[in-house]
Amino acid sequence: MEIEMILANLRKNRFEASYFATGAEAAAYLNQKIDGKVVGLGDSQTLLSLGLYESLGKHNQVHDVAHSPLNAGKTFADYAKGTLLTDIFLCSCNAIAATGEIVNMDGTGNRIAASLFGHEKVYYVAGVNKVCPDLNKAIWRVRNVAAPQNAKRKHKKTPCAVHGDKCYNCMSPERICNGLLIEFKKMSNMDMEVVLIGEELGL
Ligand code: SF4
Repeated sequence: MEIEMILANLRKNRFEASYFATGAEAAAYLNQKIDGKVVGLGDSQTLLSLGLYESLGKHNQVHDVAHSPLNAGKTFADYAKGTLLTDIFLCSCNAIAATGEIVNMDGTGNRIAASLFGHEKVYYVAGVNKVCPDLNKAIWRVRNVAAPQNAKRKHKKTPCAVHGDKCYNCMSPERICNGLLIEFKKMSNMDMEVVLIGEELGL
């Protein structure tokens, strides 16, 4: 599907939507838009590869869920809570339906909780590899592509992490697929923008 059609469908669902050919252009845009703010960053290979933890941290007060030296000595719950009520929250998403819906899966729920409420604005930053033709295929991608690859990255003791091929709907205590969030429309009372990038980024 054409990029313009995907952006139009996201806008129809009340998300702001922008497109950049490269991650470098998207990072420059986000650094220009987000300045002097308290910023929360979700765990994201996409944000990491764009260098946003470092660049935004130079002119904002950043709370993140893994990468900041500020997190040393804190528990996961402590630093994850630090992202919940920031001015701005950024994360990626596990899939975007070309029809305009956004799909995310979480194990602990901190990322999807932070994406739903309490900020001036939430940015979803994603490569075009996250775009699927429709909502059913987006959910399929989340379960059979994103989740197994993330389980493998996190060294979880799950069948998908061992085989790396598909979801086994496991009963593992280390299962990372505990909550599925489908945003059919933008959440009320908060700005939300999808920053789509014409590169393969993240899982
Ligand atoms: S439910 Fe289990 S097997 Fe399926 S993707 Fe999630 S962690 Fe892997």
